[in-house]
Amino acid sequence: MSNYQLGPEFAEYQDQNDQLSSYRNKFHMPKDSNGNELIYMTGNSLGLQPKITKDYINQELDDWASLGVEGHTEGKNPWLHYHEFLTETMANIVGAKPLEVVVMNSLTANLHFMMVSFYQPTPKRYKILIEADAFPSDKYAVESQLRHHGYDDKEGLILWKAREGEELANYDDLETILKEQGDEIALIMIGGVNYYTGQFFDLKRITQLGHQHGCVVGFDCAHGAGNVKLDLHDSGADFAVWCSYKYLNSGPGSLSGAFVHERHAYNKELNRFTGWWSHNKQTRFRMRDEFDQLPGAEGWQLSNPPILSMAAIRASLDVFADAGFDVLCKKSKQLTGYFEFLLNELNNSDIKIITPSNPDERGCQLSIQVKNADKRLHNKLTEAGIITDWREPDVIRCAPVPLYNSYTDIYQFVERLKTILN
Ligand SMILES: *Cc1c(COP(=O)(O)O)cnc(C)c1O
Repeated sequence: MSNYQLGPEFAEYQDQNDQLSSYRNKFHMPKDSNGNELIYMTGNSLGLQPKITKDYINQELDDWASLGVEGHTEGKNPWLHYHEFLTETMANIVGAKPLEVVVMNSLTANLHFMMVSFYQPTPKRYKILIEADAFPSDKYAVESQLRHHGYDDKEGLILWKAREGEELANYDDLETILKEQGDEIALIMIGGVNYYTGQFFDLKRITQLGHQHGCVVGFDCAHGAGNVKLDLHDSGADFAVWCSYKYLNSGPGSLSGAFVHERHAYNKELNRFTGWWSHNKQTRFRMRDEFDQLPGAEGWQLSNPPILSMAAIRASLDVFADAGFDVLCKKSKQLTGYFEFLLNELNNSDIKIITPSNPDERGCQLSIQVKNADKRLHNKLTEAGIITDWREPDVIRCAPVPLYNSYTDIYQFVERLKTILN
């Protein structure tokens, strides 16, 4: 759909004819001090709370209150198996097989645990390649892995940079890096959707390129999970990690997901950190057995997990399953296209969308660069009732989320931005 129109009527019409419009009411919308709903454009930073989340958490609080430790086996949703209740819906969202997916730990911790297994440097091949504008936590994590193995974190880190005067990373440059230095690179670790530009990388293409050169390939999909179709299994990536509190609406600091490709599922030779939760479920509680590795992604678990956080994830995944991820992705493309259309129609040479214009190379986030702007612009937007994310020096990151944002949100956002810029 590209016949977007200016004016509030078009937005109202789209909202009235949106089969997902009722989902907005399934979320708590933040309000200002007068009780007016804010325009929330930061689902890429912290997704909103589904109204059913409280019930899911209360269920576990109630079972804990009435059953104590027996809740592990006697609860309505026995805690012993709780993470398994999340596997299939989560696997659907990231395009993986259930065997390949587990929910555990927090994101940067999982990135480290994956690197324990998938970053196995040798004196000849020890470097790590990341994208230049990687999320800082990811950069710090890979640098510390280099140091942990005794390598220099500057010399060992290769950055895939955008060209001078450009914002987006170019695949030709990646090919050149791999041609020249591929045999020194142990690991390629890319943010599946770059948090800053919103560029959705071609995971399969990067994986194939990396594998041709003998590199292990992993992705941090924190900005991709619940936002775009990742097709992790089909991408062939060795591993991936993501968080559940951005597009997956599972609450601040909630648990992370991890993907390990099926071809590694039964490999007991892979180096890894283990705990009792990586051990065979049948014999786990005999507590005396020799360690017996669980197959698949579950075999990377360490601890018995926090059930309250998992209950929030389960609530959110049920909302996704109910709406249908394909339907959400379709609306996402339309909403984002409309957003782009309105911004372009402003004809303001001070603003530039740095996110790819090709809908297949982005999710719902648009990153808007505003010439000569500073944080005061962000403050003015906040005063105007709009929650956005500001990234120094001059970028506003906005994400209209198909589950709860409307066409009218976008219309109003652009109207208020226009007023502020004038
Ligand atoms: C949000 C995000 C993080 C945050 O990491 P936590 O361990 O959850 O604090 C890390 N990496 C990327 C790419 C992110 O988008």
